[in-house]
Amino acid sequence: MAETSSTYEKALQEFRELDRKICRYNEAASLLNWDMRTGAPRKGLDGRSEVIGMLASEAFLLATSPRTGELLEQLEEPGTEGRLSEIDRKLVSETRKTYDRSVKIPPKLYEEYVVLASQSESAWEEARANNDYAAFQGYLDRIIGYTNQFIDLWGPKETRYDTLLDDYEPGMTVAELDGIFNSLRGELVPLASAIAESSNKPDRDFLQGHFDKEKQKEFSRYMLEQLGFDFEAGRIDESMHPFQTTINLQDVRITTRYLPEDVTSALFGTIHEAGHAMYEQNVTPELAGTSLCRGTSMGIHESQSRFWENTIGRSRPFWQRYYGDLQSRFPEQLKVSAEQFYRSQNTVQPSLIRIEADELTYNLHIIIRYEIEKMIFNGGAKAADLPAIWNEKYREYLGLTPPTDADGVLQDVHWSAGLFGYFPSYSLGNMYAAQMADTMERQLPNMWELVARGELASIREWLTQNVHRHGKLLTPKEIILGATGKPLDSSYLVKYLKDKYTDIYKL
Ligand code: ZN
Repeated sequence: MAETSSTYEKALQEFRELDRKICRYNEAASLLNWDMRTGAPRKGLDGRSEVIGMLASEAFLLATSPRTGELLEQLEEPGTEGRLSEIDRKLVSETRKTYDRSVKIPPKLYEEYVVLASQSESAWEEARANNDYAAFQGYLDRIIGYTNQFIDLWGPKETRYDTLLDDYEPGMTVAELDGIFNSLRGELVPLASAIAESSNKPDRDFLQGHFDKEKQKEFSRYMLEQLGFDFEAGRIDESMHPFQTTINLQDVRITTRYLPEDVTSALFGTIHEAGHAMYEQNVTPELAGTSLCRGTSMGIHESQSRFWENTIGRSRPFWQRYYGDLQSRFPEQLKVSAEQFYRSQNTVQPSLIRIEADELTYNLHIIIRYEIEKMIFNGGAKAADLPAIWNEKYREYLGLTPPTDADGVLQDVHWSAGLFGYFPSYSLGNMYAAQMADTMERQLPNMWELVARGELASIREWLTQNVHRHGKLLTPKEIILGATGKPLDSSYLVKYLKDKYTDIYKL
């Protein structure tokens, strides 16, 4: 008995050390990556990529080593598993998931794929610049081919596409998402067209002008303080494409991009990334240094960024409180009222490009991609079929036909990089956020008065209690059920959008 106990303790200790080591490799790689994207000299970039690649492959080798497999088996033994703490049990099951997924792919096949994916991304970039889908089509077919081989090796779930979906949103299925997206699409398509026909369109002309970059920077920092971003455990810098990255629990960084001609780009970008960052800053310290010390899924992560950016940041009470602060920094440019500014930030306009879409039609862009990905992996659609399918769906859901493939099927980088199953996360984020806001309104009855006074602490605290502190200890399904008492339901997003836009557009 005594011997069994010490064997188990030794295995657990070795396993925890292994997890810590992997986390530290990843921490180093994240910091180098942040540096590369924010300020490293151009000539330093090539060498830097090599170091990051080396650290990533060290971490991968550790996670997939035969020793890791042995430790997992020991800790999964029926007599042992019951003795593990909740955290250790979850660490074991998460490590098992990564382990199985990785060891099922033969290293040679994976290497071929990595090379192809990098070539394919370059080919996509060129094809988009030249509006030449034919030049990219062969690459896309090969990427799809490799992904299909991976699905076979991982083992298809209910459908082949389920296997891909589960990687980004654990537990999410095609059956569930079909129901959710079908009803969302059924409500949003007519709502978007009613808005398009409305004669009460918000004015946006006043937004044009020159906005001093230093003043924008100062306002972004002020916003972060107001939201409750912890500057003692984070920082903000500039980069071409805004992002959030976690070095560790005490060091969570974001970036933004200041456009002199557009004051709202950096502003809402900063609020969005702050939502991601505060999620990572508020994980319970119990999980620090483990691989559970991070957001639980892409979808829940997007719910936090979109909650702050859209639900709060694009609300009327928020601008009742903060418009004066913005206006005082740009008195020459912003001569309109708080109400006019609020309306200008909530225009709905069907458009061709996803990343420029408003918070309503954005979901339709995502549904289109989801339906096409399903056609590829569950229906056998080929790369050659995609431009026609794409254009048909844009015509049907958004009433627009892309004039070129560059404005259509070639617009996103994701497929070229083999990221299939990723897109739904964005829309899931919107739906989770709306459902959480509904519960929050009932549990904090004066929520919108608090927002109108700039007292955001109890809102942040609600998110910390219900979402942030759990890190990866809970699954997305457990988070949304625990926070709202119900499984994911698209009707909250529909109600939120209907209420908001009926008022703004006087429908
Ligand atoms: Zn985001």
